[in-house]
Amino acid sequence: MGIIVKKFGGSSVGSVPQIQAIAKKLAQEYHQGDQLVLVVSAMARTTDSLFGLAHEITSHPSRREMDMLLTAGERISMSLLSLALLEEGIPSISFTGSQSGIITDDHHGNAKILKVNAFRIHEELNKAKIVIVAGFQGVSTAKEITTLGRGGSDTSAVALACYLQAQHCEIYTDVAGVYSADPRIVRNARLLPEISFMDMLALAYNGSKVLHPRAVEFASKYKVPVEVKSSFTFAPGTMIKNEESPKDKTMETIQVTAIAHKENILRYLIPLDEKAHTLLNKWQNEVFKITVQGEALELYIEDKYESEIDYLLTESGYDELSKDHNWGFVILIGLGLAADPAFMARVLKLTQTIDIKRISHGERSLELILPTQQVAKTLVLLHQEFFGE
Ligand code: ADP
Ligand code: ASP
Ligand code: MG
Repeated sequence: MGIIVKKFGGSSVGSVPQIQAIAKKLAQEYHQGDQLVLVVSAMARTTDSLFGLAHEITSHPSRREMDMLLTAGERISMSLLSLALLEEGIPSISFTGSQSGIITDDHHGNAKILKVNAFRIHEELNKAKIVIVAGFQGVSTAKEITTLGRGGSDTSAVALACYLQAQHCEIYTDVAGVYSADPRIVRNARLLPEISFMDMLALAYNGSKVLHPRAVEFASKYKVPVEVKSSFTFAPGTMIKNEESPKDKTMETIQVTAIAHKENILRYLIPLDEKAHTLLNKWQNEVFKITVQGEALELYIEDKYESEIDYLLTESGYDELSKDHNWGFVILIGLGLAADPAFMARVLKLTQTIDIKRISHGERSLELILPTQQVAKTLVLLHQEFFGE
């Protein structure tokens, strides 16, 4: 018997009946004797609506105040889940990130975890309580409340699992696990029983929402076993683990593991000078991708940050800049895709009717940049080619 960390995402704790259903399942698990630490996200859409409220007041909210605001979402879900467990007769207590001892740097909106002083969690576990921790948040060394970036509750969960030396970390979400592509777009996407840390990292960094990229980094760095599974059924989902040799032993075959995608991306082209360095240092928020093209910095960023980045650019003294909306990405992940002319020919033939802006590759990925409107169609097309019906 040991510690198990279980994280429940926003859509899994989206309503009181859902919270009650989860509490009932957890009550059964509690009696099996493991020590349970639960990490929760804010109830579905809560963080977005809080973000929207701030933007009704200003186009460039103070990042500190945003952190104070957005962390309120997780406080609601953590206390409701604790109340539901207490109703089931299970002793439980909820903690904010700060009370849990999650210490971060001071980058409001995208803070990094420095350490976890988990003594309060241990104290309560030793009193046979289930401990519920608000995901996505921590406290800086200057005692300010911080957030870990959107989707960051996964990172809270894996970090806690690591510091608590948990047996494993289970990420409960609104799909059955990690699929070969987003199952909401590709209806016949395949549930992957397992995926390597490296492929999962590539998938997460390339836009697949199912796991926060920093959670995968943490898990791979500290060898935390992670399983992604359904919060509706609790059935076995996808294990994320070290790479194994392929079972079929066909040497050097191309192996597409999964396909990631990203929509609604803004692209800025910024002259590469001193001001650009300052800008990058000031923008402590998330970026989807940054590249350098000749004399220009190319910044791909989610369009929800448009007003904030525009404000920062004006403040930094830029007036004329190239900015385009509606960029999209479809990214094949797997081994053997890089620098293979025949593979490239196959992809080009398939996407002849798509308005591809650029194709480039990493060691484990082939990235297609295209208009957002053509992302879903391209994803389905490529999935059909590499995974069949
Ligand atoms: P949570 O609220 O539980 O954190 P998220 O919305 O952040 O859930 O992530 C789960 C969503 O990720 C799914 O609903 C699914 O639409 C999306 N997703 C994208 N790519 C994949 C994939 N390859 N496998 C599974 N889900 C994916
Ligand atoms: N509630 C936060 C968000 O919506 C964190 C999370 O869901 O992981 O981004
Ligand atoms: Mg998430």
